[in-house]
Amino acid sequence: MTDQPLPILVSACLVGACCRYDGQTRPHPGVRRLFEEGRAVAVCPEELGGLGTPRPAAGLEGGGGAEVWQGRARVLNRLGVDVTEAFQHGAREALRQARECGARLAVLKQHSPSCGVGSAGSSDGTRIPADGVATALLRNEGIQVISDEEFENP
Ligand code: SF4
Repeated sequence: MTDQPLPILVSACLVGACCRYDGQTRPHPGVRRLFEEGRAVAVCPEELGGLGTPRPAAGLEGGGGAEVWQGRARVLNRLGVDVTEAFQHGAREALRQARECGARLAVLKQHSPSCGVGSAGSSDGTRIPADGVATALLRNEGIQVISDEEFENP
């Protein structure tokens, strides 16, 4: 029996998927290498939530991801549409995939309202010192989350 390390959950835009709201990608060389080596599982919580690409930019209002799960904050897109449920649905699906593959660590894209780690986009276009919606759920469920800016290829 081989002693394979557990896969790491990563933001899909970090491995080269064009899944950002504007159809762009933000590849991270170290994260991409992990993925190409079969050591990472890539998810885009916003696409998993049913939001297409491209899509209107969205941001947190009234608090961060943790407050969204407490029902005290929401996610609005730039057209003023409440997309909170889609963000929560995608976050739950990301969690399901993390559990399915046994991931205990996630490397997610900094500053995103879904994937941000201690810094997330707000509905007015600024950044707030909070986790995104998916990050908050994963952390609450015991998965360690670090940002792409903190990640160094092991
Ligand atoms: S930051 Fe997260 S939600 Fe945004 S495009 Fe990347 S994977 Fe998708």
